Amino acid sequence: MADPRTLDADPTAIGGVVTPPFARLPDPAALFARRALRLRAYAEHGELGPYLAFLAGVAEAQAAILPGLPPVAPPEAESLARARAAAMPPLDRATLLPDAALDATFAALFDAAAALPQPGEARSALGRVAADRALREACARTVLAAEQPEAGLAEHAYAAAGLQVHLARRAATLEEAALVPVGTGACPACGGPPVSSTVVGWQGADGARYCTCALCATMWNVVRVKCTLCDSTKGITYMGVEGGTDTVKAETCDACHRYVKILQGQKDMLVDAVADDVGSLGLDMLMQGTAYRRGAYDPFLMGY
Ligand SMILES: [Zn+2]
Ligand SMILES: [Zn+2]
Repeated sequence: MADPRTLDADPTAIGGVVTPPFARLPDPAALFARRALRLRAYAEHGELGPYLAFLAGVAEAQAAILPGLPPVAPPEAESLARARAAAMPPLDRATLLPDAALDATFAALFDAAAALPQPGEARSALGRVAADRALREACARTVLAAEQPEAGLAEHAYAAAGLQVHLARRAATLEEAALVPVGTGACPACGGPPVSSTVVGWQGADGARYCTCALCATMWNVVRVKCTLCDSTKGITYMGVEGGTDTVKAETCDACHRYVKILQGQKDMLVDAVADDVGSLGLDMLMQGTAYRRGAYDPFLMGY
């Protein structure tokens, strides 16, 4: 089964209507293993093959280093309560750095990534980001701010890969039922933007739509036919590649003129929020000829 995790909470039934759970926290081991498989599958088709195979290797490295990393603790009870009362994310991106466990994550990941086949440019970027702490932290801060870097895309992508591991592990220490909405288009665990959204086939939430955080991979429920970035419900349309798969579409919004991809996880249980976003770059190319710009954040598609 592709489902990363069995839904353990009973869905809450209100007047006979099943309410999907608001959020779902990641299971890091399952997350990166599934992402790697999905990227490998995408790598077998299309022109982006070598890049997707490289990203599959990165996801395999992300999965492989997990058992050797130092443990991470949940935030203090007091800070959790304060965040919740203020509708703020319990993981504060502004205070994430510096962190010894994150340093260990970067070191393990960069070590594992050095063994991957990659173009010379990527290898030099890896060498720089591994050797230069100030550079690494500057890249991490840009990624945490969800900003597009002006230069050094590969360095930023490597920093993002480390942050994904660290933030998914930090998110996994949280209590799912304690998460509350923190704002439109913001992850309830770490406050970051979505990479894509998925219509899920989970028991108790069949047909519900969830956004996935680009870094920590927490999923949060957003009703369908609504812009995940600005909350507008007017002028929402769906665009896809003609003759292409039904699995990935662009959900476009006439209020903010942006789009975020929506994945059909009900039809295809193997979808992954990041892998399917990168794997469907052809759709982004197509969208460049429309009035809508990309609104999602994906550290592996920076520059689009
Ligand atoms: Zn997050
Ligand atoms: Zn919008």
